[in-house]
Amino acid sequence: MKLSGKVAVVTGAASGMGKSIAELFAEEGAKVVLSDIDLEKTNSVVQDIKNKGGLAIAVEVNVALEEDVQKLIDSAIQTFGTIDVLVNNAGIMDNFVPASELTDEVWERVFAVNATGPMRTTRKALSIFTEKKSGIIVNIASAGGLFGSRAGAAYTASKHAVIGLTKNVGYQYAGLGIRCNAIAPGGVETNISNTLTSPNPFGLERTQIGMGIMPRIGESKEIAKVALFLASDESSFVNGTTITADAGWTAY
Ligand code: NAD
Repeated sequence: MKLSGKVAVVTGAASGMGKSIAELFAEEGAKVVLSDIDLEKTNSVVQDIKNKGGLAIAVEVNVALEEDVQKLIDSAIQTFGTIDVLVNNAGIMDNFVPASELTDEVWERVFAVNATGPMRTTRKALSIFTEKKSGIIVNIASAGGLFGSRAGAAYTASKHAVIGLTKNVGYQYAGLGIRCNAIAPGGVETNISNTLTSPNPFGLERTQIGMGIMPRIGESKEIAKVALFLASDESSFVNGTTITADAGWTAY
């Protein structure tokens, strides 16, 4: 088992990639702290993990709130004694709003969840990782964090921010036994389209141009396997970088 005895915290673990990551990590021997704004769904994923003999807890967390982030990491330590792996996965879309039509509300809401959330969890986790001189951070970014028109302006900028944070943390803490990497998934079948409540017509048209060259839509489990690689010793020499997982979409 690749994560035997490790304590892993996963945000946005009630659905999609976060759920698959939490389930795979538990199968690989990790004690998993599943967090999400949707506690009911998180509890049901935790129950499934426990039914299969895994160790897991659910914590209700809005990653956009500092007090929730404190509660998340404190709960992990109270229950399992430490943390070894942090997966920043929770994220929302932005209705493809282009820059000219952006409101401060959209920009701030998307940044709060997609960029400020990972910064806060990372900040808190680093206080533990630097003390024990080990720890791994895996950020779920996006192809939209590497290229310009996979989503609206706020989502694109927020995911670029995550990739910048990944590089900064990866390099600056490398000497302290800490690694930080990101995954840039292409299109993956999840529930994230539920956050696309009213797509902006101009933004939608501008983002759809590249969809025809997407080789295929992926499954959450395929992203979980990349997260497992990054969370385990298999990737001991990989740090401060972003792995695309998109069937080759961004290679065109
Ligand atoms: P999903 O909607 O299925 O799962 C996201 C989970 O995050 C949900 O359970 C949701 O309740 C939770 N969440 C949302 N806001 C939260 C908050 N403020 N605090 C805590 N939890 C919150 O979506 P997914 O596709 O699995 O998304 C996971 C990550 O993957 C996101 O960061 C997303 O941007 C990224 N991503 C998705 C795709 C895709 O095509 N699905 C592609 C690239 C990147």
